[in-house]
Amino acid sequence: MRVLLLGGTSEARTLAAALADRDMEVISSLAGRVSSPTLPVGPVRIGGFGGVDGLAGYLRTERIGVLVDATHPFAATITRHAVAAGLRTATPILILRRPGWTAGPGDRWSRVPDMFEAATDVAAASVERVFLTTGRRDLAVFAADDRHEFLVRTVDPPQPPTPPRMTLVLDRGPYTVESETALMRRHDVQLLVTKDSGGEMTTAKLTAARVLGVPVIVVDRPPPPRDADVLDTVEAVLARLDQLPG
Ligand code: NAP
Repeated sequence: MRVLLLGGTSEARTLAAALADRDMEVISSLAGRVSSPTLPVGPVRIGGFGGVDGLAGYLRTERIGVLVDATHPFAATITRHAVAAGLRTATPILILRRPGWTAGPGDRWSRVPDMFEAATDVAAASVERVFLTTGRRDLAVFAADDRHEFLVRTVDPPQPPTPPRMTLVLDRGPYTVESETALMRRHDVQLLVTKDSGGEMTTAKLTAARVLGVPVIVVDRPPPPRDADVLDTVEAVLARLDQLPG
């Protein structure tokens, strides 16, 4: 059975390796170019499909037997397209979503439903320095805020519009609690903003915020599509794939 694996996450890489070990034919799909250490094993295709029509056409022409969406929990468009294309072509689809984070004792989190609410809360916050770890595509909503000093960390350089008072750090996880604590101390961070991405790769900043007593605005995930087969671990996806016919 041929598997099309929509990736861009560490879980997708783990899954690609596990499927290769099981002699399953898997094509990993990535939105854009990635550096070689983060490339999954096996065949990789790169770039958008051209919406639902393009993805449905790809599923047909490549005779894909099952579609696995292991994209980031905030990559809502491709997930929507995947579900629609799966329905249209009668291709089974599994969605892998790692669990979100949960606040523990000592955490000072406030949850907001989306990035606009996060920007509204930041604009009203009586602090000076804010650490944005929301990703380069989510900076525009903070661009009107000239009251705060933003420490912004992204993997790739962001395009404008960006916050006018911004210190940019280009880096890629995983991070350690020690390095996150040191970074937040060095920049005297008073408020952290993060997506509820979940997973281990970027959780150290939350521990550092707890240690330093820094409040955190946590942006909730977009809800997964209704009635979709959503699984939360690589193992659960592998078990479900084993149950599929063919
Ligand atoms: P998105 O908004 O859901 O998707 C935008 C468009 O990018 C899609 O319509 C699709 O283009 C293309 N695309 C996205 N993922 C693709 C994939 N795996 N293979 C082929 N085309 C894909 O996605 P995004 O939030 O920009 O994220 C893009 C990629 O980065 C995803 O693969 C995701 O796993 C990864 N990522 C995202 C985040 C995040 O915070 N959003 C964080 C870490 C990693 P067409 O309509 O032309 O098919």
